[in-house]
Amino acid sequence: MSIEKKLTKIKKTLPEHVTLVAVSKTKPNSDLQEAYDAGQRVFGENKVQEMTRKWEELPKDIQWHMIGHVQRNKVKYMASFVSLIHGVDSLKLLKEINKQGKKNDRKISCLLQVHIAEEETKFGFDENELVEMIQDQAFLELKNIEVQGLMGMATFTDDKNQVKKEFNTLHNLFQKLKSNLDGLKILSMGMSGDYQIAIAEGSNMVRIGSSIFGARNYS
Ligand SMILES: *Cc1c(COP(=O)(O)O)cnc(C)c1O
Repeated sequence: MSIEKKLTKIKKTLPEHVTLVAVSKTKPNSDLQEAYDAGQRVFGENKVQEMTRKWEELPKDIQWHMIGHVQRNKVKYMASFVSLIHGVDSLKLLKEINKQGKKNDRKISCLLQVHIAEEETKFGFDENELVEMIQDQAFLELKNIEVQGLMGMATFTDDKNQVKKEFNTLHNLFQKLKSNLDGLKILSMGMSGDYQIAIAEGSNMVRIGSSIFGARNYS
């Protein structure tokens, strides 16, 4: 099936309030262009260098989302154009994003990543850390960032109940924080394998790669 067909098929299954981030990491420009020609404008990448190269080479009305783990020294390369950074997992990183936002005379939109999976390796805040940080004066002083929501990744497992439980936990936290954090509106959860569960549990932004572009080949 062509990228266009797969994209159209997935879009049909998404409720209107859910934003689709087409995760194009490792894929060539021609694949992104095909999705673009089918109407897709939001793309997700997980490496700053690769995203910057694609931004330079592809149409300028694409919204670029950084969905991967971000190293502080890389923020400067994407600060002028990135439309949303999903994986923000520390105050230190937020401070750097704020600094680069200031240099570029803009507010950079961010999602705070929350650790909901069982695996130790996944990045993100714990609930308590998050609640503490958003009350921290150093956080409240950052004027060149805009925290728009939360992002999370469920455990990589076939156990649908566990995935559901983890997404539900994040949705509850999202609802709870809404009253403390102005502008909290995006809940980014769900990938190719679990986005239907995520939407049922309250996600309004899904990050889908392989179901659109096919399996990735890391070589
Ligand atoms: C790669 C990636 C995705 C997309 O994964 P698929 O299973 O290919 O849909 C989603 N979110 C993050 C953070 C990723 O790194």
